[in-house]
Amino acid sequence: MTKPVIICVDDEKMVLTSLKSQLQHHLSTQYQIELAESAEETLELIDELVHDGHDIPLIIADYVMPGMYGDELLVKVKERLPETLSIMLTGQATADAVGEAVNRAGLFRYISKPWHESDFLLTVRGALDSYAQKQEIQRRGRFRQVLANVISLALQTGTLKQQLEAALTSLLGIPDLDHGSAAVYLLDPSGAHLDLEIAQGPHGDFDTTISVADNATSILEHVDDVCHFFQPLTYQGQTMGALEFRHSDDLSKCNELSELLTSFAEALAGVIQLKQYHDTLERHNAELEETVERRTQDLRDALEQQAKLNNILLEANRKLDFYASMDGLTSLYNRRFFLKLANSEVERAKRYSHPTTFMMLDLDFFKNINDDYGHLTGDHVLERVARLLEAESREADIIGRLGGEEFAILSTESTLQQANQLAERIRARVKNEIIEFDGHQIRVTISIGISEVRESDELIEQAMNRADKALYQSKGTGRNLVSIATLDN
Ligand code: GH3
Ligand code: MG
Ligand code: MG
Repeated sequence: MTKPVIICVDDEKMVLTSLKSQLQHHLSTQYQIELAESAEETLELIDELVHDGHDIPLIIADYVMPGMYGDELLVKVKERLPETLSIMLTGQATADAVGEAVNRAGLFRYISKPWHESDFLLTVRGALDSYAQKQEIQRRGRFRQVLANVISLALQTGTLKQQLEAALTSLLGIPDLDHGSAAVYLLDPSGAHLDLEIAQGPHGDFDTTISVADNATSILEHVDDVCHFFQPLTYQGQTMGALEFRHSDDLSKCNELSELLTSFAEALAGVIQLKQYHDTLERHNAELEETVERRTQDLRDALEQQAKLNNILLEANRKLDFYASMDGLTSLYNRRFFLKLANSEVERAKRYSHPTTFMMLDLDFFKNINDDYGHLTGDHVLERVARLLEAESREADIIGRLGGEEFAILSTESTLQQANQLAERIRARVKNEIIEFDGHQIRVTISIGISEVRESDELIEQAMNRADKALYQSKGTGRNLVSIATLDN
């Protein structure tokens, strides 16, 4: 470490020699004594010393010197080195000059020539103590500031790398450490991977390719003779890396700096821990969001599947209903469904006073067809007749097979006269149809009874009864006939 320097300035060599010997004799060897014979030489000397990194706590200057007076020199020194204390040593200075030096150059003391050695040394010691105290206060302030900076990083955003950089820069900004280099070895939470953050002080000139450890164990064993400070970064028993500091001077003798570096490492460990905790939390949040999104999608898919299934079920039910409503042989409505539909039509017809008619149809001597050609042929005839009924009636008519060879048609928007025309068309069509099956040519006729739906009808069955009676009239009067129910029916 460079020694602090005391500068003595006097144009008389004798004085300088005497000052030097007294200072060297009574002060410890920790101070270096430099001499200058003129103000100019002093300023040059100061530049040189500052450049070499020397601290200059005290300057002792003569008052009367060729070129520049002592008070003027001390003002200039004050401009360059505001912290340096000064003592003026002369028998010729006026009260004004002393006042000037006290005010402008912050003169510490004035000593008359010839001086008493003990007085002189007491003054010098007083100046050096005062300087050291001031330095100490400043140093503590800077230490506190560095630690405060590191702790405040915990509250700031930014990557861990940026935070480490800021912390190391702050550390190396301390004048006592600015010839150093600092490195933070960082273990990732799994301890497998090692990251390195290195910073150089403004005057740091160390090789920063400090042997990079490649795992947790080797980093903690990593102490060699160039390494002046090495401390694991631990937080609540967990090691997350290490702080290494190198300096051109031997730091081991300076307890305070070691203490600062230790506190710095502790604060840094806290910051890193917080940052890693924060990062983990963020990652977990992101994972959680992803999981929730995935689950929501799963749920959506399941609901979609459910909806599809529901549609299939609905469709199946609809088909079931449809088949339950149909006559299997002729594909006409079966009795139950026909009556259901007819009843709702009757209600509507009555509400709006629309003419509606009911027609009963029954094949003549159908039993004979079964007997003569067999049941299968009979079935075919029934089917064929069903198609003829459909062909002759209108789209809006409701056709049903009530049972056996008995059919019914409900015609909406149809008067008795229109129903009669339809019945006649059907009767003629059936009579004229030659039904071919199984090598046979079969003819069949049909008898029909018709009734209008009346205001007084509660149910379709009432109109059906009247149509049935009219049908029997057709049967009774020769078959292959259409009869209309009479009013008294
Ligand atoms: P009518 O002119 O008086 O109506 O005489 P009909 O022979 O047509 O009447 P009847 O009621 O005596 O006979 C009806 C026959 O219809 C009796 C039955 O075997 C036959 N039958 C009923 N349902 C079916 C069927 O689904 N298929 C076949 N092939 N025959 C049926
Ligand atoms: Mg019959
Ligand atoms: Mg019958």
